[in-house]
Amino acid sequence: MSLPAFVDVVIVGAGAAGLAAARALSHQPLTIAVLEARDRIGGRAWTIRFQGEGLDMGCGWLHSADENPLATMVEPAGLTLDRTPPPWQGQAFNHETTDAEIADFRAAWDAFDERIAEAAAGGREGPASALLEPGNRWNGRMDAISGALNGARFAQVSILDYDAYRDTGVNWRVREGYGRLIETLGRPVPVITDCPVRKIDRTGPVLRLETDRGVIEARAVIVTLPTDLIARETLKFDPPLPALLEAANNVPLGLASKMHMTVTGAEDFPENSQLWGRTDTADTGGYHLRPFGRAMIEGYYGGDLARGLEAEGQAAFFAFAVEELVHLLGSNMRRRLDPVVATLWGADPWSLGAYSHALPGHAGDRARLKTPVENRIFFAGEATAEAFYGTAHGAWMEGERAAREAMGTLGLDPGPRPGDEGA
Ligand SMILES: Cc1cc2nc3c(=O)[nH]c(=O)nc-3n(C[C@H](O)[C@H](O)[C@H](O)COP(=O)(O)OP(=O)(O)OC[C@H]3O[C@@H](n4cnc5c(N)ncnc54)[C@H](O)[C@@H]3O)c2cc1C
Repeated sequence: MSLPAFVDVVIVGAGAAGLAAARALSHQPLTIAVLEARDRIGGRAWTIRFQGEGLDMGCGWLHSADENPLATMVEPAGLTLDRTPPPWQGQAFNHETTDAEIADFRAAWDAFDERIAEAAAGGREGPASALLEPGNRWNGRMDAISGALNGARFAQVSILDYDAYRDTGVNWRVREGYGRLIETLGRPVPVITDCPVRKIDRTGPVLRLETDRGVIEARAVIVTLPTDLIARETLKFDPPLPALLEAANNVPLGLASKMHMTVTGAEDFPENSQLWGRTDTADTGGYHLRPFGRAMIEGYYGGDLARGLEAEGQAAFFAFAVEELVHLLGSNMRRRLDPVVATLWGADPWSLGAYSHALPGHAGDRARLKTPVENRIFFAGEATAEAFYGTAHGAWMEGERAAREAMGTLGLDPGPRPGDEGA
C-alpha cells in the first residue's frame, strides 16, 4: 500500500492502541492512514505458531477479564475464550514450600497490598519498596512478582501508580493467542507496514510527517509509541515537546521475558500449574506448567533478571530455566526440556521493553503523557491507561479514547464514552 499525500488522521503504530483508534475512526466520514514501523501489526501483542498452536510472545492474559472489552470480542472473532483460572498463586507439588509457608506468603503479600492502599489513600508517594516489611523472608519473592507485574523491582515503582492499577482478579485467555485476537480485530484496518515515522513537523497549519516511505500530511495525528521510544526521540517533534519527553522518561518500560519450552513426559505435571524457581530471591523465574494442557512449560522472568538474560541472548534464558527446573524437579529434567523460543523485547528497536511503570514520584506522568498538543496531536497506548496500564485492553481503550478526541477536533460527534451509556 502506498502512502497517500494527505489524510484527515494519521495513526502512528498498529499495536492494540493504534488498531483500536483506527477501528473507531473507520466508521467516520474521514480519511485515515495507519503507519507501522514493523512488517506486521499487533506490536507487543504477537502470537507465533508452533506445532499448530499459538504461542504468545507478548500479552497472554485478558486481565480484569470481567471488565475487559477485548474479552467480549474473542468469540465473535471466531476464537476460543479459555476461563481456566491462572495458576500464579500455587506452587505445583508444594515444591520447596509447605501449605503453611504458602499461607504465610499470602498473608505477607496481602499485608503489603493493604499498606499500599492505605499509603495511597493518605496521598503518600515514594517507592513501593518502602512498604515492604524490613527483613521479611518473602521480600525477594515479592520483588520477583514485581518483576513480572511491573517489569522492575518495587524500588522503581511509584506507590500511587501501583495502587491506581485496577485488578478485578479475573484473568482469562484466548486459546489461539491474545496476539492472534488483536491481529484478527485489526485485519480490516488498512495498515501501511515497514513505515517508521521519523518526524512530526507541527510548524504549519497541517501536520507534516516524515517517514521512511515518504511524506504525508494530516489534520490530526494519534501517536501510540511505547514510552522508551518517545523518550529516546526515535520519533522527533518539530518544535520539540520537552514536557512529553520528561513524562515518557518518568514512565519507562520495564522488562519481562518469556521462554517457551517443550517437555517430554508432560503427563507427570499437573495441567495449568505453576512453579516458582526459588522463594528467597527476586532473581528467579515463574514456570507455567502445561498451559492449555500442552506438553510445554512457559518461563517468565522480570526486571533485572530479564535484562541480564536478554543481554546474553536466547540461549541464556534456556540455560537458566533448565538449572532452576533441575533444582526443583531433578536432573532428568535436563534431557526432557527443549527450547522453542525466548522473547527479546528489550532489544527490539520498536518496543525497547515490555510494559511501563511510573517511577516513584511520577504517578501523575501518565496523565501528562496523554495531554493533547495543540488539540491536533493525541497520545494513546498502554502507558496512558491510568487504571489498566501495562495491558493490551488498557492500550485498546486508550486508542478508542484518543480517536474520540481526534473526532472532537475534526468537528465530528464522538458519541458517548463507553460506560456512559444510559447515564
Ligand atoms: C512479555 C510480555 C507479556 C505481556 N503480558 C500481558 C498480559 O498477559 N496481558 C496484557 O493485557 N498485557 C500484557 N502485556 C502488555 C501488552 O502486550 C501491551 O501493553 C500492549 O500490547 C501495548 O499496546 P500498545 O498499542 O500500547 O503498544 P505496542 O503494541 O507497542 O504498539 C505500538 C506500535 O507502534 C509501532 N511503532 C513504534 N515506533 C514507530 C514509529 N516511529 N513509526 C511507526 N510505528 C512505530 C510499533 O512497531 C508497534 O507496533 C505483555 C507484554 C509483554 C512484552
